Amino acid sequence: MPVHIPVPDYIWILGHRILIKYVPEDDPKLEDNWGHLVTEDLTIYLSQAISGTLLQETLFHEVLHAVDCFSTSSTLSERNIFRLSSTLFASLRDNRGVAQFIMHNMEADDGG
Ligand SMILES: [Zn+2]
Repeated sequence: MPVHIPVPDYIWILGHRILIKYVPEDDPKLEDNWGHLVTEDLTIYLSQAISGTLLQETLFHEVLHAVDCFSTSSTLSERNIFRLSSTLFASLRDNRGVAQFIMHNMEADDGG
């Protein structure tokens, strides 16, 4: 039985505090997607129509959009973000021990 972890309220991306809102699937901010980063709002919107792994993968995808948006002047294409997010997500899932090692004992400098 998987442990239920609530959707986080926000995430720090390169010094920007990005809100995470889990909204009804007909919310216009979603623009008919499961997830959508609205940079003007500093918010990632996620559809309440999804849960579990799909929700996690969608949040990861939107986080990559945010990293891309706040780190470069020209943003990656949707296709490239999709390829990066799906392959990185799968790699993290298949190597949980490595992900834990990378993050282990990091100094708390995330502002949170
Ligand atoms: Zn996208």
